[in-house]
Amino acid sequence: MKTVNNTRNTILSRFFYAIRFALCLFLSFQENNECEKHKSITFAEKFYIVNEFSSGLLQKAVDEISGLPGIGKRSALRLALYILKRDRHFAVSLGKSIIDLRENINYCKRCHNISDTDICNICANPKRDGKTICVVEDIRDVMAIENTGQYFGLYHVLGGVISPMEGIGPEELQIQSLLERSEKEDIEEIFLALPGSVEGDTTAFYIYKLLHNKGLRFSSIARGIAVGDTLEYADEVTLGRSIVNRQEYRQ
Ligand SMILES: [Zn+2]
Repeated sequence: MKTVNNTRNTILSRFFYAIRFALCLFLSFQENNECEKHKSITFAEKFYIVNEFSSGLLQKAVDEISGLPGIGKRSALRLALYILKRDRHFAVSLGKSIIDLRENINYCKRCHNISDTDICNICANPKRDGKTICVVEDIRDVMAIENTGQYFGLYHVLGGVISPMEGIGPEELQIQSLLERSEKEDIEEIFLALPGSVEGDTTAFYIYKLLHNKGLRFSSIARGIAVGDTLEYADEVTLGRSIVNRQEYRQ
């Protein structure tokens, strides 16, 4: 009797498995599929999505990965399956680097750039020009400016820009520490390299008002026509700024 029941359960299980498989095939070949999430993904991925994950471990990994910004469930599944395909060492190394990043990374006590030590490599470099401080929104801007190889001063990372809509005021940013630096350090120029948005302009204006009586020179990143752009396709604000900020022609 027990054997008969087991056989029946196995048949039923295979029946439902076959139905899910058929549903995947249907989704795979269906044109103008109404369900956007099943488009342009592999058959294996469709099968896992429809199957609602045959593994709780895979489900958990997908849930965690999809918590990252810009990663949806579909991309998370693709990444999880890729990690499964690689050898164990890859997964261990990836996991360890994420834990090390979270547990051991520091922020520079002087400029708030990300760092492995209390003072970052840029602040600790005696060849950098300590009289100029470039004020940026976040560490990605430091990386972008460093990649140009055109700036040799120090930085100050605000950690965001003033945005009343998002509830970010000056107190949430590293503006007070910039004021303290302007008083303690031998600074001559504040170079404002903030986003060309209302929030970026508001933040730049706030910093200028806060520090303008400290005897500092203020500059801001040039804005205008990008290299390779055509004038006729530039918007009026960008073209207008390019004209106002026109510079001496140099060969
Ligand atoms: Zn630093």
